[in-house]
Amino acid sequence: MIHPCDPQRCESAGCTATLCVGAGLPSNDEIFERSSRAIPGGVNSSIRAFRSVGGRPYVVAAASGAHITDVEGRRYIDLVQSYGAVILGHAHPAVTQAVRAAAVDGTSYGAPPPREMKLAEAIRERVPSCERARFMNSGTEATSTAVRLARGYTGRDRVVIFHGNFHGATDALLAAGGSGVATLGLPGTAGVPAGAVGETMVVPYNVVPQLDEAVAAVIVEPVAANMGVVEPVPGFLEGLREECDRVGAVLIFDEVISGFRLGPGGAQERYGVKPDLTTFGKVIGGGLPIGAVGGHQTIMETLSPLGPVFHAGTLAGNPIATAAGLAALNLLKPEVYTELEQRASELSSLLDDACNSAGVPAHFPRVGTLVGAYFGEGGPVRNFDDATTTDEAAYARFFHAMLNEGVAMAPGAYEALFVGLGHDDSVMTEVASAAQRAAVTAAQP
Ligand SMILES: *Cc1c(COP(=O)(O)O)cnc(C)c1O
Repeated sequence: MIHPCDPQRCESAGCTATLCVGAGLPSNDEIFERSSRAIPGGVNSSIRAFRSVGGRPYVVAAASGAHITDVEGRRYIDLVQSYGAVILGHAHPAVTQAVRAAAVDGTSYGAPPPREMKLAEAIRERVPSCERARFMNSGTEATSTAVRLARGYTGRDRVVIFHGNFHGATDALLAAGGSGVATLGLPGTAGVPAGAVGETMVVPYNVVPQLDEAVAAVIVEPVAANMGVVEPVPGFLEGLREECDRVGAVLIFDEVISGFRLGPGGAQERYGVKPDLTTFGKVIGGGLPIGAVGGHQTIMETLSPLGPVFHAGTLAGNPIATAAGLAALNLLKPEVYTELEQRASELSSLLDDACNSAGVPAHFPRVGTLVGAYFGEGGPVRNFDDATTTDEAAYARFFHAMLNEGVAMAPGAYEALFVGLGHDDSVMTEVASAAQRAAVTAAQP
């Protein structure tokens, strides 16, 4: 059993002054409460606080492969997998080894090391639209840089986004969407000034909007994976490509989730549509903080120092994150995706079976290796209005029943479920029987 007060583990993690001093065996609740007195809401990413499913989060002590262990020593099969970032499974030996080896050479320089070049080359090899790539530290930074770049390149201001797509915590992209209609300039959260979204147009997903020559960029999740998992309808991505070409706007695919998860070439390879710019995050850091913008050479070279669009970052192209990312990409051969797709397909059908046989109306749509959850009587989800007909209370019941059975899903009804290399046959068998029991429990309101 692993818990953070094992003196040997703690000493090496340098935490003797905090948790280890007389803490004994901490409970999830004790640590979460203590965190809440130091960190707003006790979390550093709001969904982790369990607000939308109720209850309190488990506090993770360690993770390995398909499993996470909380500070009370309870082990769960993890279907969160850092929201898709750890595609090889937690603490994969290749990544751990790469991180160790990189760390002893220094953790950040403020001068270019060769590894970032290798990662940019590795991305270009697999995603041909990314003739050049620039690194930063998160998906959020990637989308904000891509938007600035598109605006600077076109000399235009307007950005078109799709209702229910998520591009991180970037002011210009945190705009509220209207129901089924295009809206312009409504802040999606407190703290975003009207001016920051005054040129952001929100339109329904899966419908090609009519653009005009004010539009700098269209940014889209080519497979939407932050409102459940929603496949682009035939013609949608192609239509966006055509409209952008017609008016001279930059087409940005936000592949922070789908990049290197749907396959080596991401959604753009799967659907055969080539964007001008692509944003990456999650998988390309092997579980370490990273983001990237890649794209057409001419547009990319509008970035400073070659062009007028500013970008910089103290830790950008970080030696450890790029080492972990390279280790991950090198292992992600086509046959790995075949296996992951098989796992994702099993996950989707075992959840379908469990809910069907317990009389819980639900479906678990799958696109490649991505699986979503929808609870309720509604049909296939094509946009945000469809997505929000999901029964969030039913998801919360199933979520807690699964957690109780030792399977951790994301604490929110609109998140995807993730399998990684750690989810082998025996893990999937356990998930199946947990789901059978959990669905029976969740059937009682
Ligand atoms: C996760 C995500 C982001 C934000 O990435 P962070 O690394 O969390 O900032 C952006 N776009 C999409 C599609 C995402 O799924």
